[in-house]
Amino acid sequence: MDLGLSRRVAVVTGGSSGIGLATARRLLDDGARVVICGRDRDRLEAARVELAGGDRLQAEVCDVLDAAAVAGLAQRVIDRFGKVDMLVNNAGQARLSTFASTLDADWDAELKLKFFSVIHPTRTFLPHLQASDAGSVVVVNSLLARQPEPHMVCTSAARAGVQNLVKSLSVELAPRVRVNSILIGTVNSGQWRRRYDERADDGMSYRDWLGALARKKGIPLERFGEPEETAAAIVFLASPAASFITGASLEVAGGVSRFA
Ligand code: NDP
Repeated sequence: MDLGLSRRVAVVTGGSSGIGLATARRLLDDGARVVICGRDRDRLEAARVELAGGDRLQAEVCDVLDAAAVAGLAQRVIDRFGKVDMLVNNAGQARLSTFASTLDADWDAELKLKFFSVIHPTRTFLPHLQASDAGSVVVVNSLLARQPEPHMVCTSAARAGVQNLVKSLSVELAPRVRVNSILIGTVNSGQWRRRYDERADDGMSYRDWLGALARKKGIPLERFGEPEETAAAIVFLASPAASFITGASLEVAGGVSRFA
């Protein structure tokens, strides 16, 4: 299926690792020009080298929570590629905490991360997306938005708010810009690798640990997703091939959701 990505320009926030990195790779493979950003310069440079996108790839240090930095990013993207057709709001990470263990400062930080990682890039790139004949935004969200977990209370509540925001944006930005989200279950990425590395117990390989977790979580497909599988859904929704889809949420979760 031709997704119509040739000569399109995509910005992927948090493109230096995991799902964002896989999304950038898929976009490049499909002919797009791609901009990735992240906070850590070394990780970003490693991703740039790994992606080997030549003059179709731009890698920029940028914290999406810093509005001025996002404005600078947008300027550099326009200077380089002249336009933006697709924005993938992917940057972020989860917070493990119950209601009892979540301090006010944690709530502040989590709500800020989840909302402003979408608000800053969307607001900043909007004029360019509106100027495109195929402008689109994809928000990388989580099943937690609809199915909260007791050990991720704060993240779940923030995700629900973001899901609501996606719906509002899909109406306000229509008809020029489509806005969709994907709802991830568990994807084998940097986040899970870090959690594995931080475990106190040992004696289990990373793969076995993921497998045991998948069984514990009752994932019908009996495994974690891979970043490439998530990227395929993101790239489809972002692409002109999804031209009549807006305000939609696509589950990429191995069947683990319990809502119809
Ligand atoms: P990774 O940790 O592998 O990648 C996260 C990426 O986001 C990195 O490139 C990181 O780079 C970047 N990033 C984080 N904070 C910022 C910031 N403030 N500004 C710019 N870049 C930032 O995680 P995943 O690939 O798993 O996560 C991608 C998205 O998917 C996240 O939003 C995450 O919450 C969501 N998600 C993931 C799930 C999973 O199971 N993996 C489940 C549900 C949702 P750097 O640290 O250098 O800034």
